[in-house]
Amino acid sequence: MAEGKRTGRGGRPRSIQYEFLQSVTLILVLAMLISYGLTTYLIYRQSAQVLREEIFQQAEYIAAAINVSGEEYLKNLDETDPDTRFTLIDPAGNVLYDTDQKSIAMENHLDRPEIQEAIESGKGFQIRQSDSLGTEMYYAAMRLEDGNILRTSRPARTVFFMAMRFLPAMIILVLVILMASWYVTRVRIRSLVGPINRLDLEEPLGNDLYIELRPLLRRIDTQNREKEAVAGMRKEFSANVSHELKTPLTSISGYAEIMKSGLVRAEDMQEFADRIYKEAQRMIKLIDDIIRLSRLDEGSLPETETVDLHALAAEALETLRPAAAENGVRLSAEGEACEICGVRQILEEIIYNLAENAIKYNKKGGSVTVWTGPVPGGKALRVTDTGIGIPESEQERIFERFYRVDKSHSRTTGGTGLGLSIVKHGVLLHGGLIRLESRMGEGTRIEVFFPDPEKK
Ligand code: ADP
Repeated sequence: MAEGKRTGRGGRPRSIQYEFLQSVTLILVLAMLISYGLTTYLIYRQSAQVLREEIFQQAEYIAAAINVSGEEYLKNLDETDPDTRFTLIDPAGNVLYDTDQKSIAMENHLDRPEIQEAIESGKGFQIRQSDSLGTEMYYAAMRLEDGNILRTSRPARTVFFMAMRFLPAMIILVLVILMASWYVTRVRIRSLVGPINRLDLEEPLGNDLYIELRPLLRRIDTQNREKEAVAGMRKEFSANVSHELKTPLTSISGYAEIMKSGLVRAEDMQEFADRIYKEAQRMIKLIDDIIRLSRLDEGSLPETETVDLHALAAEALETLRPAAAENGVRLSAEGEACEICGVRQILEEIIYNLAENAIKYNKKGGSVTVWTGPVPGGKALRVTDTGIGIPESEQERIFERFYRVDKSHSRTTGGTGLGLSIVKHGVLLHGGLIRLESRMGEGTRIEVFFPDPEKK
């Protein structure tokens, strides 16, 4: 079974645990990455919003204070909030005052977007990247009553900085969660797989473990039954074989014993030898049939060739002519040349066995006809006799091994009870069908149908 051998890369069997760990890790890392990015962004946005409101508020307060008490007010602010810087700019862009003293001699500020905005609409806002990677500057500008512009600015952390700050915690979190989920997965998989390895395979349907396993258990059950059936048949067959072989052997031994004891008169010697010979022949035929059957049991067809059933029928009848004459039965081959693809030897046996039965189970003055020819969908072989017929109730069973309708009659005709099972087996191996029609006292017709090979 090719399917049963599926393995992972490199030909080693795969591990459920490994596959699960892989998926769990992938999903976890992905989920953590997404939430990491999302959290950082949201926190950044939130703090940016707060900061923006704060510096505007500061600007508003101080603008109000300057409006009341003049520019001098700014000078009081120098020490109060070292983080926030205040700048006063005139409408022409010149810096009038800056809490950061060193920058008083700064260039014109008119081109700054927040200043432009404030001149136009009274209020302006801007975020600018600062020189260092981790910080950026927030600027809020406000027009005063005298036309000057007051600007507040404060440094803030960038998204990148925040992301970096969360990173160690994030890595620890990912590791902890990964380890926890690895542990849980291992434990879970073990507890899932453990019971599977302890399944009772003798009674597969008795385990109601997981619904996912039902198809597998059903298959095992079917296989078990098939194996049991085969084993049972084998056992029955060997019991039958022993019994069938023992019967003639017991006779042979009996006759020989009498001869040995010297109780047989000289003129009866011939008769005893003849009986021993007949029983020995019977045993040979039986063993031949058993060998044939076991060859068919191998199941695969040996080399096939194109065989003419009509010619085979003619040959078989030729061989059987003496036996037919002895029984007072007429033989005839009818129909036309009829070629099929098959195994010559098996087909020969099929025809021979059927014709032999038709002669054996016939009446004096009866006839046997073998017809071969094409029929719709394939080729057919019909063996018709005017013999004793087979009772309706037995018609199914005569194809069984060692089955005989009339044990005593079959014994006198030297039948083994294997002939028809060989026929049936051979026909099935050729993909054919076998059909029987029989009427007690009138005769029997057995038809073998070989369907045409399917055209591709
Ligand atoms: P056997 O070696 O006894 O002939 P077969 O397997 O060939 O064994 O046949 C099984 C039984 O079927 C025979 O014993 C016989 O009773 C019956 N049978 C087979 N062919 C015919 C037939 N053409 N007419 C009547 N009975 C038949």
